[in-house]
Amino acid sequence: MYRKGKLYFRYGTMGSAKTALLLTTAYNFEERHMDYMCLKPIVDTREQASIIHSRIGIQRECRWIYADTDLYELARDLYRTDSRIVDWYLIDEAQFLSEAQVDQLSRVVDDFGSNVICYGLRTDFQTHLFEGSRRLFEIADTIDEIKSTCNCGHKTIVNARIDSDGHIVTEGDQVEIGGDDRYVAVCRKCWRNRRIEQASRVRPPLDLEEIMNPEY
Ligand SMILES: [Zn+2]
Repeated sequence: MYRKGKLYFRYGTMGSAKTALLLTTAYNFEERHMDYMCLKPIVDTREQASIIHSRIGIQRECRWIYADTDLYELARDLYRTDSRIVDWYLIDEAQFLSEAQVDQLSRVVDDFGSNVICYGLRTDFQTHLFEGSRRLFEIADTIDEIKSTCNCGHKTIVNARIDSDGHIVTEGDQVEIGGDDRYVAVCRKCWRNRRIEQASRVRPPLDLEEIMNPEY
């Protein structure tokens, strides 16, 4: 039987319940006795248990994707050793995939007829595309946005990184390990307004004339 799979990209901001959706999908597959496998790029190598978990309390085992993992080889090995073709691959944090790994996934879809659903962020804290997300936008069959709402009511767009005082940070590495609680998803307008407000709260350097003025 000829199988035809698809490469899906479901993107959203932080806190848009992407992982919860992945886990709910996994649960639904189990209910219907469908074959699936969860995968996740490992960013923090101190992490031990290969588990995807969400704040709503569900979790599932996953396989780690390392920087040098060839995902096409992984699918081919499963076929060679177990004659297994996975129907559905569910991939968490897909923004951390490399361009090459997204291309490998597209070949898994095209050669084996598997379906691959990638869940991930569109952009980093500086509003630029992640490598994996960019490649998914370029070649995925189906792209869906998982929407969530800013405090002001608009759709969230920016994954703002905040410091311990809650101020928005705009400089730093794209990925900071272990700092998931340091992000807040906001709409583009709030992102701009909050930075303007922050800048205005910084006291400007004293003007010499003001120092010389006795009334100051
Ligand atoms: Zn807003």
